[in-house]
Amino acid sequence: MNLFKKMNLPEDKNNNVISNEKPESVHCLVIGSGPAGYTAAIYAARANLKPVLIQGMQPGGQLTTTTEIDNFPGYPKGVTGTAMMEDFKNQAERFGAEIRWGFVSKVDFSQKPYKVVVDDDKTILAESVIIATGATAKYLGLESEKKFVGSGVSACATCDGFFYKGLDVAVVGGGDTAAEEATYLSGICRKVYLIVRKPYMRASKTMLERVTNTPNIKILYEHNTKEVFGNQQVEGVTLIKRLGEPDEEEVKIAVSGFFVAIGHKPNTELFVDFLELDEVGYINTQAGTPKTNLEGVFACGDVQDSSYRQAITAAGSGCKAALEAERYLGTRKF
Ligand code: NDP
Repeated sequence: MNLFKKMNLPEDKNNNVISNEKPESVHCLVIGSGPAGYTAAIYAARANLKPVLIQGMQPGGQLTTTTEIDNFPGYPKGVTGTAMMEDFKNQAERFGAEIRWGFVSKVDFSQKPYKVVVDDDKTILAESVIIATGATAKYLGLESEKKFVGSGVSACATCDGFFYKGLDVAVVGGGDTAAEEATYLSGICRKVYLIVRKPYMRASKTMLERVTNTPNIKILYEHNTKEVFGNQQVEGVTLIKRLGEPDEEEVKIAVSGFFVAIGHKPNTELFVDFLELDEVGYINTQAGTPKTNLEGVFACGDVQDSSYRQAITAAGSGCKAALEAERYLGTRKF
């Protein structure tokens, strides 16, 4: 049974609900435009679910802020994140997915069809929702860091690295992102300090080898950031060097840029009242599936994956989400 009919809302010939508010009716709404969202849109479009995808604040998602992607199958020579996401988008549009600019500002999943508000303005009633809102870079939370965001502090080397050409910079973090950011900056900057709080990095072996073998990257193990300092722009960072309990020493390094690469936070604030989240905030899905605690609401990509967080795993989960949406919507003719 058509859920819109169940709500007794008048419809036009295309199943669009007609009311005073004029909300639009959609069979399959995809929120987010990273590899998960676009893959869901490709599969949903091919299954004739007529998906509408709302791109969000950062069309193309996190990959548009990375450098070369060498590990996505099908690109033997590598590809930039921006080019790859453009390919995803074009492929989704080729099958009729409707890709829209916009930001989902509110949802109400308390009843079906699910209500989604875009840009605080336009209401969409969706029979099924695929959430692919990804995750956002974390900051250290220092007052001084906040003060210099946009004038020396950044969470994206590919976006801002160019401004520090020939200068010294620092990257904080010990994972693959930090290793990647440091490697990227080493090609632009004179010297890159990599600030790691532990005596080791958790980055993959290949990434670790790359940073270790790059002459202008200096890894500072067991250093924590105390503050970022400067006048109008960042001029340096004060670090606390661990010397073995309880001794520590304050160290200052002169840098013009400070790049934070300490992980990500899932973008789930919109859904807290309706969906089960884990203790960090990732959406809980049923093991091996994109199913959430709500029928017809599916989650895919980094928003529900704190473990793998790769473009290829996100794309795979987007595919699963669309297949589940198709099963959920059943054999209705659209
Ligand atoms: P991770 O969670 O893997 O690493 C975060 C790093 O930041 C850790 O080293 C952590 O330290 C450190 N950190 C966290 N909080 C602080 C703090 N307050 N002060 C100092 N350091 C801090 O995040 P990533 O973004 O690096 O990677 C996420 C996932 O994405 C991983 O699975 C990674 O493999 C993948 N990835 C893959 C890439 C590729 O294949 N090309 C590129 C980038 C990411 P500690 O170790 O002490 O906890």
